[in-house]
Amino acid sequence: MKQFDIPLYYRSPIISRVKAIRSNNDNRKKDFSPTLLNFDGIQFVLARHFGFCFGVENAIEISYRALAENPDKRIFLLSQMIHNPSVNADLEKNGIEFIQDTQGNQLKEWDEIHPEDVVIIPAFGTTIEIESILEKKGIETKKYNTTCPFVERVWNKSEKLGNDDYTVIIHGKDKHEETRATFSHAKEHAKSIVLRDIEEAKILGEIILGKRSKADFAKHFSTRTSEGLNFETDFDRIGVVNQTTMLASETQEISDYLADIMNQKFGSENKDQHFANTRDTLCYATNDNQTATLALLEEDADVAFVIGGYNSSNTSHLVELLEKKFKTYYIKDETELIDKDHIHHYDLHQNKTVDTENYLPTDKALKIIITSGASCPDSTVDRVIQRLGELQDLNLDVESALTILKNNFK
Ligand code: SF4
Repeated sequence: MKQFDIPLYYRSPIISRVKAIRSNNDNRKKDFSPTLLNFDGIQFVLARHFGFCFGVENAIEISYRALAENPDKRIFLLSQMIHNPSVNADLEKNGIEFIQDTQGNQLKEWDEIHPEDVVIIPAFGTTIEIESILEKKGIETKKYNTTCPFVERVWNKSEKLGNDDYTVIIHGKDKHEETRATFSHAKEHAKSIVLRDIEEAKILGEIILGKRSKADFAKHFSTRTSEGLNFETDFDRIGVVNQTTMLASETQEISDYLADIMNQKFGSENKDQHFANTRDTLCYATNDNQTATLALLEEDADVAFVIGGYNSSNTSHLVELLEKKFKTYYIKDETELIDKDHIHHYDLHQNKTVDTENYLPTDKALKIIITSGASCPDSTVDRVIQRLGELQDLNLDVESALTILKNNFK
């Protein structure tokens, strides 16, 4: 895979070497077993895949290049480049300003953006409507466009479905930048609708089968359908695409459910006529990270930590997977490990940060699972490992642990 030129402080002395040892021994990425990193008194069980993906490194490289190439210009990002607070904070520190927040609310009015400004499009891509605003202002939108190619692949697939006369069902979070961009591109070519989860898919299924009313349809989906979508006639042919970072098992469940609905309505002998037989549009990083996290569930451990921004979709799904078996804490970085007894962390179910006491067992040598989202720098994971060692009053001998790891893979 292409090597990107990103600032060195995002790289790490521990994790980058762990990843190099693993990939030297498995360069075709067939082995999803975790990495055990042993220290005296503490053992870390690391997922085989985690951290910066292709799209994030690409976006970081382009953003810092924009800074280097335009020292005298104002530089804007349409919104957070990726969902990681430390990366966005560093870009802001270097002078980049955000035009919108992650929900699409204006932080800068469009009137304040001028043709001579540089505008970077984030890895999530953007909507056709925003591209058009920028182009009308005479702003070059291609030069610093960091839209991930795996997101563009979803747009292409939506276009193909539209050309084949299918209505596009987008499994995604409707407020998320990527899904707003995908919806905008899909509706150029096809009737389109966004579904968040299997519960919403079931509501749509009942609408397709005529078990729910027009009012019900409007109540649930009016803000998430393309203009003119007719709930009685536009669901005769459907195809599913998804936000690249959704939970693979949930997308599969939604696709299977909707395929079954179409079979009930039109008969299984006609199924290809009514349900596009497509694979999900999750990206390679989401697939690798979720598969590696599922492999962690085969392990025993005292506690799990998932590291990433609290608005990161892909990171939240790793938490959902791990908490099926382990006491799991979702932290943005090492500063959330307040001390031995207190942790500040994000609770997905309450949708807010909370404080928890006694989060580490104290009566034994610890075995700790660690993974992170696709927008989390490896240097942050390093610091979490070091902080956990510090809290256990251990001096982590990194060189010895890495030598043992290397020998294990000889
Ligand atoms: S998570 Fe996937 S789609 Fe998103 S930036 Fe990374 S590679 Fe691209």
